[in-house]
Amino acid sequence: MKPVVVLVGRPNVGKSTLFNALTRSRQALVADLPGLTRDRQYGEGRVGGRSYLVVDTGGIVRDHDPLATLVASQTRLALAEADVVVCVVDGRDGPNPDDFLIADQIRTLNRRICLAVNKTEGVEPEVAVAEFHALGLGRPYAIAATHNRGLDELMTAVLAGF
Ligand code: GDP
Ligand code: MG
Repeated sequence: MKPVVVLVGRPNVGKSTLFNALTRSRQALVADLPGLTRDRQYGEGRVGGRSYLVVDTGGIVRDHDPLATLVASQTRLALAEADVVVCVVDGRDGPNPDDFLIADQIRTLNRRICLAVNKTEGVEPEVAVAEFHALGLGRPYAIAATHNRGLDELMTAVLAGF
């Protein structure tokens, strides 16, 4: 089985952009998904000659409207299938209260977690990630999904141990 990598984070941080950059529209073959629900968006990514499945989610939101609740429950289902959770945050903002909420939720899952600080093009990586250590999710990785920056380094770390 290929490792399953689930992207989470609040809306607009760039999860879908990252999904597209990682998969370049390679749809995962249904045959690769034994035991996985088919009603989510799965793609196949590759790094260093290894492949993995990546799952986009609608994000975790605090809102209480029914659609938001549905999106959140889809996210929970996706997380149940995850081998690794990639928490995506927006590097142009500092850590947001919702980022701390999401960090707390995913820490309870007992899954490997990697933190991706997106939208960091044009900024020194160490500077871009400095404030995000506070989320307590380990070493933050600076990426820019729209510029393909840092994606191989991130995914190499994500897959370490698989
Ligand atoms: P999602 O809601 O988390 O899936 O976020 P989207 O992937 O839809 O992206 C939200 C917005 O952020 C879009 O306008 C993207 O073009 C933009 N975006 C995504 N990645 C980057 C990035 O690396 N740099 C910049 N500047 N914008 C980005
Ligand atoms: Mg999206």
